[in-house]
Amino acid sequence: MSISRFNAVEKASNRKAVEVIAPKQKVSEYYGENVFNRKTMQKYLSKETYKAITQAIDNGIQIDREIANLVAAGMRMWALEKGVTHYTHWFQPLTDGTAEKHDAFVEHDGQGGLIEEFSGKLLTQQEPDASSFPNGGLRNTFEARGYSAWDPSSPAFIVDDTLCIPTVFIAYTGEALDYKTPLIRSVEALSEAARDVCHYFDEEVNKITPFLGWEQEYFLVDEDIYSARPDLMLTERTLLGHESAKNQQLDDHYFGSIPSRVQEFMKDLEIEAYKMGIPVKTRHNEVAPNQFELAPIYEECNLANDHNQLLMSLMKKVARRHNFRVLLHEKPFMGINGSGKHCNWSMGTDKGYNLFSPGKNREDNLRFITFIVNSLMAVYKYNALLKASIASASNAHRLGANEAPPAIISSFLGTQITEILNRFENCSIEDAIQVDEKKRLHLGFGQIPELLLDNTDRNRTSPFAFTGNRFEFRALGSSANCGVAMLALNSAVAYQLRQFKQDVEALRAKGESKEAAIFEVLKAYIKESKPIRFDGNGYSDAWKEEAARRGLDCESSVPLQYDAYLKPEVIRMFEETNVLTEKELEARNEVKWEIYIKKVQIEARVLGDLSLNHIIPVALRYQSLLLENLARLKETFDADELKTLSEEPKRLVVKVANHISHVTRMVDEMVEARKKANRIQDMREKAIAYHDDVFPYLDKIRYHIDHLELMVDNQMWPLPKYRELLFIR
Ligand code: ADP
Ligand code: MG
Repeated sequence: MSISRFNAVEKASNRKAVEVIAPKQKVSEYYGENVFNRKTMQKYLSKETYKAITQAIDNGIQIDREIANLVAAGMRMWALEKGVTHYTHWFQPLTDGTAEKHDAFVEHDGQGGLIEEFSGKLLTQQEPDASSFPNGGLRNTFEARGYSAWDPSSPAFIVDDTLCIPTVFIAYTGEALDYKTPLIRSVEALSEAARDVCHYFDEEVNKITPFLGWEQEYFLVDEDIYSARPDLMLTERTLLGHESAKNQQLDDHYFGSIPSRVQEFMKDLEIEAYKMGIPVKTRHNEVAPNQFELAPIYEECNLANDHNQLLMSLMKKVARRHNFRVLLHEKPFMGINGSGKHCNWSMGTDKGYNLFSPGKNREDNLRFITFIVNSLMAVYKYNALLKASIASASNAHRLGANEAPPAIISSFLGTQITEILNRFENCSIEDAIQVDEKKRLHLGFGQIPELLLDNTDRNRTSPFAFTGNRFEFRALGSSANCGVAMLALNSAVAYQLRQFKQDVEALRAKGESKEAAIFEVLKAYIKESKPIRFDGNGYSDAWKEEAARRGLDCESSVPLQYDAYLKPEVIRMFEETNVLTEKELEARNEVKWEIYIKKVQIEARVLGDLSLNHIIPVALRYQSLLLENLARLKETFDADELKTLSEEPKRLVVKVANHISHVTRMVDEMVEARKKANRIQDMREKAIAYHDDVFPYLDKIRYHIDHLELMVDNQMWPLPKYRELLFIR
């Protein structure tokens, strides 16, 4: 039931913080207590089983049924001891959020009773009735059922009374129906390609692991005020609302003190996150009022993404306990900053060093440059794909606005790396590469400082910035599944590293030395990838023109941005890295277009309803009041006096009437545009119609409503205003 504006505002302003009592133990003592992690496995599995499962995880080996049975038995014992009654396969379908179907641990005991049961078979595979998950036409035939399969690299965990088993979700014909499957495939592709290139410099490296450290931004609003805003409830963003006189102009929210209600929420969330083994570390206010951020310590890419998914659902749950609602939408409020999810990405070796750190020794420097340059090349060649990977109806509100990276992908390296690349490009091989007595290659000129964090020139406007020992992909939206962007990045870099090796080997086959071949190829790459390097202000209009001149992808329409997935060179890249097939890519695009359509469709419907049922009736009432006032003036004053006295009230009536008629007319037009778009069969064409012909009405209608908000009697206005939504007491 929706609640009236004044009621809601009053309730919200009287609310007290819900105090959270922290566990008595230290964090390190309860960290991961709801996770079937290695520590717990050691306790509940035999030595042999423990060894078999950890080896299988570390080396990516298939786990046989016998081991699975033993692991399942251990898991069940642990879970039952913790009062758990149900289990579920937890997966990430192509929607927002995760999916789960709970089954109880019970089976017939053959004597009319029940026993607690959980076999290896149930652990490893299930067939969720998944015909209603988006599949882009992959599951249209009846034999194309889907199944979920255990991902042992991400540990099982407990939520309430349920044991959750992270799984991939696949069609019986083998196509991925989720985000996790291709992410895992991309991690494998990158590990392998990076290891092969790493062997030019260090033959002792056996394994490369991609890392991800995300930074999650979000908004909080009071629950009652949220309930008085149907647009927030149904679309997670305000479709109308005039800017508050005060918002973020004074920059007083960023790193400011955190209100106590929020403080308690954060404390609660962190405790829950620790129990789930999510290593959260940083929390602070963000730029906009009511906006906050939370970041963990980085982890292996697939696990980090699971943790982000888990955290997002945890946030929603914990927020309710504190009478808040979390908004993960990229742009809940017009005129103030939106929310992103920066993805910090790097690669580590099993020898403990990071491939994006220049390292202590000179022989590390050339390896460092090789990985930086190849990453740049990948971002350059696949800049349109990377943009498509972060594109969504909701993120489009944020990108290109005056606060977030523009809808153009470029990379910022900082002055130090830029200088090194320039120098490398312009020097001779003798200056660039030296070979020492142990035949190791290192950078000929100077030493790259180990610490590259140059805070003075960290460029906040860059969508893909080098930040000392990692790249930070900043264009992601706060509601996104990081897997989508990470799998594109991992695959592109993997493919590029393979190309690098081929190019080097081709030169060596012609008789060139290893160092000469590496030198030549790197030099060529540095030249070729130059257009992607941009250290200036990404928010400026000049950059948009410059980027177009450089041939970077500047497409701003989301449905058209998705086309990048189906370019022949992109399909080839995904197929050759074994991450996604053409069929999977096509199906995924169908889903992307469909989601785009539905999001805009829902917003259009909600705005239509709000306009006709909430705003226009109130505006008409106010208009009548003004007319009544005019009639009274007429009764009271003579014609001469009336001339001046009625001038302003008349003008006001005209203004109000004009806005009313614009809104009603445009709502009608928007409905017509929707009807027309709905008749289109082809998903892509339909999405384009929604983008071009329906979407623009949202802002146009809003413009008039927001002006009405400024005129209509505050007492009559039905929906909480920005100033009421945005400042938690
Ligand atoms: P800032 O807001 O200044 O970018 P934060 O401390 O908020 O920095 O976030 C940094 C994020 O980057 C954290 O999630 C952190 O774990 C992650 N991170 C740090 N080093 C690496 C690395 N080598 N690889 C991947 N992520 C990293
Ligand atoms: Mg950051």
